[in-house]
Amino acid sequence: MKIGILSRKSSLYSTRRMVEAAKERGHEVRVIDPLRCYMDITSHRPSIHYRGEILEGYDVVVPRIGASITFYGTAVLRQFEMMGVFPLNESVAISRSRDKLRSLQLLARKGVGLPVTGFAHSPDDIKDVIKVVGGAPLVIKMLEGTQGIGVVLAETEKAAESVIEAFWGLRANILVQEFIKEAGGADIRCFVIGEKVVAAMKRQAKEGEFRSNLHRGGSATITKLSPEERTTAVRAARVMGLNVAGVDILRSKHGPLVMEVNSSPGLEGIEVASGKDVAGMIIQFAEKNAKPHNTRTRGKG
Ligand code: ADP
Ligand code: MG
Repeated sequence: MKIGILSRKSSLYSTRRMVEAAKERGHEVRVIDPLRCYMDITSHRPSIHYRGEILEGYDVVVPRIGASITFYGTAVLRQFEMMGVFPLNESVAISRSRDKLRSLQLLARKGVGLPVTGFAHSPDDIKDVIKVVGGAPLVIKMLEGTQGIGVVLAETEKAAESVIEAFWGLRANILVQEFIKEAGGADIRCFVIGEKVVAAMKRQAKEGEFRSNLHRGGSATITKLSPEERTTAVRAARVMGLNVAGVDILRSKHGPLVMEVNSSPGLEGIEVASGKDVAGMIIQFAEKNAKPHNTRTRGKG
């Protein structure tokens, strides 16, 4: 197959591993910087131009689109979809996953377990929305944050009110969420490919921190999932329309609660913790599914 990896840098661990895994399995592979792709979107024959040439003959496109370039990156991916190239994850699903509120609403609609979560707009409603999600302590999150940045734990209602006011003052959209204390600063990253969790790790926040993100100093170890955790992770990925996803779960006293679903889950943490060739499994999935126009939306979303 001819595989294009949409990524800004070939030196990133995940990009490097995808290239290696594709070559190992005998494929032709190229890293394509999405910000250097340009196109005539009105052409009858959709195509993509790249540094003066036309990109042609691709069977698979693997999007590794960073949160800071979601808008342009998904537009480029959509163009690949219109050309019939099989996207490992499709553009619509990636856009969905980048908005925490939209994702949680979709998951809730399908009955996936979530922490109690609220959303409000007017300063007049701060006190009441805090009450609606069960009062302090609670977690306040920016809708488009990643890597733990923009996630705050407010221990008291007063603190919650001022943090919400501060975010709004900066014109940031936020959600408020029940704090799952019993998770003990840990969450479970389930790496889903297709209909299976292929690897999982427990991430533990460093001492004195509640956010388990590896970028915030968290540490990863392998963990065994319960059958309920497995089905929750697979269902969450399916609801989002993602073939490959990192589903983050909190272990609560009411069972597994999905916190978020990532559409470009990093490979380094999970491969190192699990010792598994996750990149190879992604390529295998692509081999099985790469048929022209094999998407749910064909770029129509
Ligand atoms: P980001 O997209 O920035 O990673 P998350 O929603 O994943 O944002 O939150 C970052 C971390 O904060 C999580 O990995 C988890 O450890 C912790 N966390 C987030 N929400 C909650 C919550 N409701 N209860 C307990 N811990 C939480
Ligand atoms: Mg996270």
